[in-house]
Amino acid sequence: MHIVVCVKQVPDTKIIKMNPKTNTMDRSSAPAIMNPYDVYAVEEAVRIKEKYGGTISVLSMGPPPAVSTLKKCVEMGADDTYLISDRRFAGADTLATSYALAEALKKISSEKGEIDLVITGKQTIDGDTGQVGPGIARRLDIPPLTFVQKIKEIDLGNRKISVHRKREDGYEVVESELPCLLAVESGINEPRYAPLPNMIKAARHEPVVWSVDDLEDIDITKLGLKGSPTIVGKVWAPPKSEGAEMIEGSTDEVVARIVDLVMERKELFQDKEVQPS
Ligand SMILES: Cc1cc2nc3c(=O)[nH]c(=O)nc-3n(C[C@H](O)[C@H](O)[C@H](O)COP(=O)(O)OP(=O)(O)OC[C@H]3O[C@@H](n4cnc5c(N)ncnc54)[C@H](O)[C@@H]3O)c2cc1C
Repeated sequence: MHIVVCVKQVPDTKIIKMNPKTNTMDRSSAPAIMNPYDVYAVEEAVRIKEKYGGTISVLSMGPPPAVSTLKKCVEMGADDTYLISDRRFAGADTLATSYALAEALKKISSEKGEIDLVITGKQTIDGDTGQVGPGIARRLDIPPLTFVQKIKEIDLGNRKISVHRKREDGYEVVESELPCLLAVESGINEPRYAPLPNMIKAARHEPVVWSVDDLEDIDITKLGLKGSPTIVGKVWAPPKSEGAEMIEGSTDEVVARIVDLVMERKELFQDKEVQPS
């Protein structure tokens, strides 16, 4: 079984700062990490390999430092890693990103053997669109299974997979033929610590790096900013909310403090007519 996981290196949005003048992310203010949803995608591939055997390849599109994320994937249990990196990929929206990744997947398939399963995260924490997985599936003409929270069964003989797909009111069981693409939820597994032999392997691992010129038959008009029809109208940071006060103490003390706070701000409530519900 040949599984390819797509992973993206992203800035840690928990600590990233915004440039107040341009209202854009100051990417240098936060360390680059593997997109958290993609950690679950890699872990799921490792679990599938442990159960059914096979090979795990990992693919990323990004600048050269994304190599560190690919090495992390080897620590987790991936076999081969590929980085497509070239200035001509820069400025890509989700359409151009999924096109470039699909072309790289075709090359991996022709060099390493037919792909049975492509796994992506549900979304990234920076772009946050959740469009790239289905975009790849459309371009490879394979079924996309999104919001996957559990793999129920893989029937390699009949080339079928069944999964639990998250819904607001529970989950649905969806069956698909292989090959297909899974976009996985964060709760699908609990990522494990990397074993020492994998860490040693990762330290020596060199990802395969491809430029645009390495991807034969690629249409360069569909890449990067040129190939991105998305126009960003305006970007702004949400206003900062005021810090909350944590009230501690006995129930009587907490109630007394809440009453004080309401009385201090009573003008906020005075002009408001309360309608009976
Ligand atoms: C006009 C424009 C210019 C942009 N310029 C840049 C830029 O220069 N640099 C930049 O970083 N972003 C840029 N972006 C953002 C870029 O469009 C998105 O980050 C990218 O297309 C992926 O979309 P997403 O982050 O929403 O991924 P999602 O669709 O939320 O990701 C879902 C899953 O797809 C996979 N995936 C997504 N992206 C990658 C990737 N790169 N490699 C491997 N797997 C991936 C992962 O498994 C991920 O969990 C730009 C966007 C626009 C609109």
